[in-house]
Amino acid sequence: MNSFANLKRSRNDFAKLTKAIEATTQATESGSKVREDTRFWQPEVDKAGNGMAVIRFLPAPQVDGDDALPWVRVFSHGFQGPGGWLIDNCLTTINEKCPVCEHNSTLWNSGIEANKDIARKQKRKLSYIANILVISDPTHTENEGQVRLFKFGKKIFDKITEAMNPEFADEKAVNPFDLWEGANFKLKIRNVEGYRNYDKSEFANQSALCDGNDEKLEALWKSEHGLKEFVEKKQFKSYEQLKSRLDKVLGFDGTAPVSRTKATDSVFSSVKDEDVSKIDKVMSEDDADLDYFKSLAKQD
Ligand SMILES: [Zn+2]
Repeated sequence: MNSFANLKRSRNDFAKLTKAIEATTQATESGSKVREDTRFWQPEVDKAGNGMAVIRFLPAPQVDGDDALPWVRVFSHGFQGPGGWLIDNCLTTINEKCPVCEHNSTLWNSGIEANKDIARKQKRKLSYIANILVISDPTHTENEGQVRLFKFGKKIFDKITEAMNPEFADEKAVNPFDLWEGANFKLKIRNVEGYRNYDKSEFANQSALCDGNDEKLEALWKSEHGLKEFVEKKQFKSYEQLKSRLDKVLGFDGTAPVSRTKATDSVFSSVKDEDVSKIDKVMSEDDADLDYFKSLAKQD
């Protein structure tokens, strides 16, 4: 188990984080079980779709051990077919074969534009989970001071990457996850063409949390939630389970209605609001994961 003294000593060695970022070039946001799990914090937006909050990303939790990163990456699929919705974690997260990705790759490699569009719709989305301290949450002040989990997508992860690898020589590289020399993150959400947009979000100047009081910081660190559980095998359906769900959703098992229009109607009437909000979240960030399909095509 990692010690607090170790954490403090090694805090400027963020080459490990930079490396992990380099390994991750494609990303987007997705929803999964965030809404039911009260450990997760989510920013609230007003009727116009705008919102803001100040959070602080925290270092890797003690419970995850020495080699842990401050975040975990989870791929997921979320789409609708004639036989219903498929909202599941993608097995590529744990480096296993995923039947949905395989099907997408077949569609993509067919070279038919309509198939490519379907593959785009069904593609895996990458999201990140990290511990945060809620600094300011104007619509839910009761959250302030709490250590929570935060699930986010590519746009926010890009901001973290930029902070660690500044573009210009006069900018100092900052590890946003550092308790002493990190920086608060000003989350600014706007509604752009119906989707949540995080472009205006930014890091504040470097500052120590808890005025740099080690006793308080250690308690804060020890109260972080474990992240490894989100990438444990039990979070994932087996290949066979996922394949049979995919067949049902795509109507390949013969149970889905034949007429596509009718199927769509019945699908919508049977979808729970919760599912729709999940899908909204899945679709809320634009991304370009096409390189992924291209890489699959190359493997064949
Ligand atoms: Zn997949």
